Amino acid sequence: MNNTELESLIRTILTEQLTPAATETSACTSTPVALFNDVDSAICAAHAAFLRYQDAPLKTRSAIIAAIRAEIAPCIPELAERAATETGMGNTADKILKNKAALENTPGIEDLKTTALTGDEGMVLFEYSPFGVIGSVAPSTNPTETIINNSISMLAAGNAIYFSPHPGAKNVSLWLISKIEEIAFKTCGIRNLVVTVKEPTFEATQQMMAHNKIAVLAITGGPGIVNMGLKSGKKVIGAGAGNPPCLVDETAEIVKAAEDIVAGASFDYNLPCIAEKSVIAVDCIADQLIQQMREFGAYQITDPQQIAQLREVCIQKGAANKALVGKSPATILEAAGLPCPAKAPRLIIVEVPADDPFVVVEQLMPVLPIVRVDNFEQGLQLALKVEDALHHTAMMHSQNVSRLNKAAHLMQTSIFVKNGPSYAGIGVGAEGFTTFTIATPTGEGTTSARTFGRLRRCVLTNGFSIR
Ligand code: NAD
Repeated sequence: MNNTELESLIRTILTEQLTPAATETSACTSTPVALFNDVDSAICAAHAAFLRYQDAPLKTRSAIIAAIRAEIAPCIPELAERAATETGMGNTADKILKNKAALENTPGIEDLKTTALTGDEGMVLFEYSPFGVIGSVAPSTNPTETIINNSISMLAAGNAIYFSPHPGAKNVSLWLISKIEEIAFKTCGIRNLVVTVKEPTFEATQQMMAHNKIAVLAITGGPGIVNMGLKSGKKVIGAGAGNPPCLVDETAEIVKAAEDIVAGASFDYNLPCIAEKSVIAVDCIADQLIQQMREFGAYQITDPQQIAQLREVCIQKGAANKALVGKSPATILEAAGLPCPAKAPRLIIVEVPADDPFVVVEQLMPVLPIVRVDNFEQGLQLALKVEDALHHTAMMHSQNVSRLNKAAHLMQTSIFVKNGPSYAGIGVGAEGFTTFTIATPTGEGTTSARTFGRLRRCVLTNGFSIR
């Protein structure tokens, strides 16, 4: 028997051993790989894969994650470039950093912490088990980052995944999903642990949400899609929109605050949902802060007529103009008919009143409004109003510990960054793991493998305590 025949024999034996449960519960007959013509076949295939994966040891999960980390790493520059080109949003350099963070800093199975209680009457074990097939909806703003991050988290927790990629990022998403599926298959011999359809549409997403083999939905996107999921009757891990304010008081280190704000708000042209969307500055340091932000590459527009022109192109009918979401400052200035400085600015800044649409609307553009307030208390009240109980993200620059504590406590955001750029909140240049699914309305916060596990209790009576 030659090598090919031997390999084929092993595969047949493995398939025979591992598929009975799958064929019993799945209506699927023919099984393509990773990319399917229809939603039902894709989910059935992922479900069959899950039933096999459930029997695999933890070391198989770890091996898959290690292989994803190793084999996707060389693809990151291309992934970032393709995502920027296909969506027409953000920039390749920052997308490289975002994808790298997702790949390197999303926790694996070590995140699934077991806890135990023991006493005279026995032992109780709390452990995370998989849910089954998770339906993961990814946004256009972080398309590949979300797929990488969710793949690692959800596979670590023992699930299979049906992805609903954003139609606007279809090609790069399908390529990545196929690649991850192939890596998982090569590592463990199970096909279709990660699947999607060849034509991701809104209708396909709706169908997926109603499918009886989808155990849990993880939805990363705007309010429309998150609310649609919440009506599905399934468990939903909902990662919705934000509008992160950044509060700066008079005790802040102004130069550092300015540098951090420009870095965070300009990152990937302000596409990240966590990026600074407004600055609320105490009056006595506002001028100095603005001056420093200009030093770090922000371009201030002061003429009221020019600000009005900018507002008109950026915000239309009370919402961000999709045509300018994630565009560069130069493109936005051009669209507004405004001159662009010879040295391309990193960020556009405008000083506006508290109720300006620039402050109230989540723009996802490198146009940052600055609002002046009399003092910290007034600033905090405004920050609460701007964040609007989305429970997403807020930043604060201050050296006053009790004020930092008060703001962190009252804001009730999933992420609160003190004295750093917004991306510190997802573990970039700061402690903590990376996630691109920050579950806001449903309250799981910064998601990781354990978010995608079912917490179960296993009880042994009489003994097993060694104390
Ligand atoms: P979006 O809501 O336009 O799309 C998100 C996803 O939902 C896409 O996959 C899209 O195909 C799907 N979708 C959208 N409308 C749909 C519909 N009617 N039916 C079926 N599917 C639908 O979001 P986007 O523009 O891609 O992303 C930006 C939004 O996502 C922002 O509001 C941002 O704050 C938010 N976001 C949140 C997080 C988080 O972790 N909380 C992360 C990234 C983005």
